[in-house]
Amino acid sequence: MTGEGATPETNEMLTGDAYLESLQDGREVWYDGEKVTDVVNHRAFRTSARVIASLYDALHDPATADTLTMVDRFGHRTHRFFAPSYTPDELRGARDAIAVWQRMTFGWMGRTPDYKAAFMAQLAEGHSYYGDYGANALDWYRRCASRVLYLNHVLIDPPVDRNRPRSEVDDVFVSVVSENDRGIHVTGAKMVATGSALTHGTFVAVNSGVAARMEPGRDDHMALVFMVDMSTPGLKLICRPSYEAAARHPFEAPLASRFDENDAVVVFENAFVPWENVFVYRDVPRAKGFYAESGFFNRYNLQSATRLSVKLEFAAGLLMKCAAASGTDDFRAVQTAVGEIIAMREVLWSMTIAMVSEPEPGIGGTVVPRLQTAAASRLYATNAWDRVRALFETYLAGAPIYTVSSPADLLNPDLRPILDRYFRGTGLDAHDRIKLLKLCWDALYSEFAGRHALYERNYAGNQEQQRLDPLNWARARGDTDRFQALIDECLAGYDLEGWLPAANLRDS
Ligand SMILES: Cc1cc2nc3c(=O)[nH]c(=O)nc-3n(C[C@H](O)[C@H](O)[C@H](O)COP(=O)(O)OP(=O)(O)OC[C@H]3O[C@@H](n4cnc5c(N)ncnc54)[C@H](O)[C@@H]3O)c2cc1C
Repeated sequence: MTGEGATPETNEMLTGDAYLESLQDGREVWYDGEKVTDVVNHRAFRTSARVIASLYDALHDPATADTLTMVDRFGHRTHRFFAPSYTPDELRGARDAIAVWQRMTFGWMGRTPDYKAAFMAQLAEGHSYYGDYGANALDWYRRCASRVLYLNHVLIDPPVDRNRPRSEVDDVFVSVVSENDRGIHVTGAKMVATGSALTHGTFVAVNSGVAARMEPGRDDHMALVFMVDMSTPGLKLICRPSYEAAARHPFEAPLASRFDENDAVVVFENAFVPWENVFVYRDVPRAKGFYAESGFFNRYNLQSATRLSVKLEFAAGLLMKCAAASGTDDFRAVQTAVGEIIAMREVLWSMTIAMVSEPEPGIGGTVVPRLQTAAASRLYATNAWDRVRALFETYLAGAPIYTVSSPADLLNPDLRPILDRYFRGTGLDAHDRIKLLKLCWDALYSEFAGRHALYERNYAGNQEQQRLDPLNWARARGDTDRFQALIDECLAGYDLEGWLPAANLRDS
């Protein structure tokens, strides 16, 4: 990389206010039959926008700035995960910065701006992968790192006609429709872009599952990797229902009303992408390779594992408090459930320690988490939350449904004495018990909770791909040969006559 030590430090990182202002750029967001003119103040997005703004403020807060930020080799002060890591210590610092933001959201926002930094940071060194478009990739690194941009990504085709060759579904899947000396026009849709209404740009590419279905020649017009500013004409976001908008009161939905990351379908209608935003164009091998070769996979699993570790801490604390409110916390079976969640948190956090302590070489002198560890972490993480839900359902059982319809019940003077008598918890009054159990409802059983369960299971590719990737990478790296060699060694130690010298048994 150029510029090491030569460039004076610049600090252009967005503040919370600057972030909110940057969203008012004419983007086309559709919600409830209407075009949203101001996402920052719209009921579907306003609180979650302010939560993200608070993450930006933390970059500038003396209490958190040192843990969160560093100066990259270009002189940009940036979030530690937005810069490439060159040593295990830098990677550990990046992990700790991820954890600071996640503790601010209790692990309930999967796509905070650091998620996509898993990819963007690698462009500092990995831009040459993109050949003629390499300068664009390097420019985007600098734009993203210097301002700590919030990017979303879309990698998956819409769930239709998966049984046909990709190229036959170009009425729906994203493809290029024309090009000129200024850029390309693209049309098509992508499966959901989480958080996109509140981001600065969309990164468009394919993941390993989609890539496996692409063929040179046949799929060239769909072999694209590019970046789109959210205000691009022709880019439309079609949002799912907002749980934030549906939440009537923080007391009822303390998580949904604050941490809802709307998953919008992204549609391009002849959207113009200038050449400077194109990374891969009509190039199947490069479009297929970016996912595995950029280090994105290795790094996003560090962000995800750190995030879920915090969420598991939250789950453990919540189950302890809710069980205590029912007077069941001293029972042996209930304690096993808490212990299991704590152990799950330890397993996942230990995987982050392995990822930062024993990384592998990445592009251009960087270090990235070891591929096999990242793949194992992905598989563990995407199945962990399901277990947490089962533990709550089994050991907290029906307690969360023993509640009132809204805070208004607690404010009604005729009803309140009844509630105070019959809704008290063990060691806490009715108000505090209802408040606690409503938090539990929002975390485990509400519509917001259902979406979280779906997210945890699917955010990192389908379940088969999550299992095939570890196998394929173990094959590529010789692990499967080693594993089978162990069996050969064991088999070589005996035959029909009995033990053989290869068994290495002592005489007596
Ligand atoms: C809440 C949520 C948020 C998300 N956010 C994002 C985001 O921000 N960005 C993004 O890019 N994606 C996002 N996604 C999409 C997510 O990445 C996908 O859901 C995930 O990769 C699984 O893909 P799929 O849903 O298309 O399932 P599929 O891949 O269709 O899998 C479903 C089943 O069908 C089988 N199957 C499908 N196709 C084939 C085939 N050709 N041959 C054999 N078997 C096949 C699979 O093996 C599997 O058993 C999000 C999803 C959710 C639920």
